[in-house]
Amino acid sequence: MPQLGQHDPAPSLRQKLAGRPIRATHIVACHHCTLARGAGRFVQIYSTHEQVICLRHRLWLGDGVTGVTDQLSIRDSPEITTAWHHHRNLITRHGRSGVRKAFHIAAVINWRWYDQFHHFTAATDIYDTLAANQPRHANSHAVVAASLYPSIVDLTAVMASPRWAEIAHSRHPDQFLDRISVEVTDGWQPRGASDPLRDWMRSDWLPGFRGSDAINASKPR
Ligand SMILES: [Zn+2]
Repeated sequence: MPQLGQHDPAPSLRQKLAGRPIRATHIVACHHCTLARGAGRFVQIYSTHEQVICLRHRLWLGDGVTGVTDQLSIRDSPEITTAWHHHRNLITRHGRSGVRKAFHIAAVINWRWYDQFHHFTAATDIYDTLAANQPRHANSHAVVAASLYPSIVDLTAVMASPRWAEIAHSRHPDQFLDRISVEVTDGWQPRGASDPLRDWMRSDWLPGFRGSDAINASKPR
């Protein structure tokens, strides 16, 4: 399996990634958009969990972006934009709270796969494109998060479906595992006690989930 990036993340970054993801309640707005509106370069806005890109300027605004310089270009990685449209369609189809929850679990699982063996070809290909075009971002949290995003959405699509979740938690989950291996994991079937997806299938765990998007709860009236 190809390595995601030529070097392992620095220990301090690994430390930061442990237990990812943390729920974000705000993001740094796209700096091209805010500059165009005369609001300056650094503007924080409340966000919902699917607000991870600026479609107009093709910038990554999601996980790992803490400042304007982390807003990397995704112009040459159309898979990320496609995944974002898919993500929004899932919310329309299954409802915000179910997708938010599935997305959270899918993100934890994908980050654990990344930590365990550097993930799968779809993510490594995106990583290679992003890092080659923008070497100063190589190995940053944002570039890894952007690379994993389409896989996280693909897994979310299966987990957010009540029918597929029921198959996953049944005594005969083969159909679910087949679909995962075709759509997410390069033909590999997750197995073993330490695999995070198998753990979810067994226990339906929900690590660190703290409710739905904060914007719904704290929006001023
Ligand atoms: Zn923008």
